[in-house]
Amino acid sequence: MKVPLLDLTAQYKTIKDDVIAAITPVMETQMLILGATVEKFEAAMSELTGVKGSIAVSSGTDAIVLAGMALGLGHEDDVIVPSFTFFATAGCIARLGVRPVFVDIDPKTYCLSPDAVAKTIARDYVVKGDDAPPVHRKTGRKLRGIMPVHLYGQCADMDPLLEIAEIYRIHVIEDAAQAIDARYKGKPAGSMGIVGCYSFYPTKNLGAFGDAGHIVSNDPALTDLMRKMRVHGGHQRYFHDVVGMNARMDALQAAVLTVKIKHLKGWIKARQERAARYVSLFEKHGLLKTITPPFTPPDRDHTYHQFVIRCPKRDALRDFLKAADVGSEVYYPHPLHLQKCFAGLGYKEGDLPETEKATREVLALPIYPELSTEQQTFAVEKIAEFYRK
Ligand SMILES: *Cc1c(COP(=O)(O)O)cnc(C)c1O
Repeated sequence: MKVPLLDLTAQYKTIKDDVIAAITPVMETQMLILGATVEKFEAAMSELTGVKGSIAVSSGTDAIVLAGMALGLGHEDDVIVPSFTFFATAGCIARLGVRPVFVDIDPKTYCLSPDAVAKTIARDYVVKGDDAPPVHRKTGRKLRGIMPVHLYGQCADMDPLLEIAEIYRIHVIEDAAQAIDARYKGKPAGSMGIVGCYSFYPTKNLGAFGDAGHIVSNDPALTDLMRKMRVHGGHQRYFHDVVGMNARMDALQAAVLTVKIKHLKGWIKARQERAARYVSLFEKHGLLKTITPPFTPPDRDHTYHQFVIRCPKRDALRDFLKAADVGSEVYYPHPLHLQKCFAGLGYKEGDLPETEKATREVLALPIYPELSTEQQTFAVEKIAEFYRK
């Protein structure tokens, strides 16, 4: 038996006719960029998230860059981010000249730790005056925001983060790339900060047939600015109010996504059922003494973009599973604060102990709506076999 980490063809088979029916008129009319097809998808995203401002863009990366540009983040600014995330979280703001301030995670949820955020601000920044953002004690740079990442499909602990942001009058930019329709106290991921960014990279829970992304915001002025900046800074052709970029979504992607978004809740439910099945299989094999399954606090819904366990002898287990045709992956093996491109920021090993520990211990197992009981049973039998040796 083969248990691939992910099988996108299995999902395509279930929606093939609807997708072809949706993309055909786009091809027939050759209305390929933005337009009514994209607007229809923007309305669907607005409905899903409950957020009025809804902007379809070219990728999750461009969503974050565009949000940062519209918020005016730049060379004098700092933004707090986790180090345990996909590169784009920090890379996008660094591209704008912002200094990423890496903060440690909560070891149970793997998301940004509000305690660590509060401690970092109290230790490194001073507040000067009521309306000014906190200023770094040594560099004089301004702390402008916190960017929590809703990692693996589960929201970060938003209330304390929003509270810290309110105290210091800084922005909360949500990286919801992995967490579309995840909930925190009933609120959708991406709807709680000033702006929420999503990715529709094909492997995400809602995946396009290529690159695509999205932004939502409850701030009308910011929404308008981001909408302008998506098309080179102007609503009217050849008139540019600000300098923007090309971050438009293709109509073909919007057509595919409009078909797929109707299935999203069902697909998430199927992921949750498979996650629960993993845990009961671990229990059956006595594995819960050895491996730690994902932890979901009672105020959250996990959408299992990834099903990530923490386990001893992680790399040997991974090799063993590979030999048995069971896919697995490490998200993420190298923390961002120790990446070569950020060497100039002066971080060293040991600075973020929980992040560094997680990079050595986590392993993602196959999870997707079409994953069968037989495949899961086989994967867990192999894990049990490995730990019996
Ligand atoms: C996928 C991802 C992104 C970037 O999205 P792209 O669509 O690939 O550009 C950003 N942040 C996180 C956490 C992601 O997982």
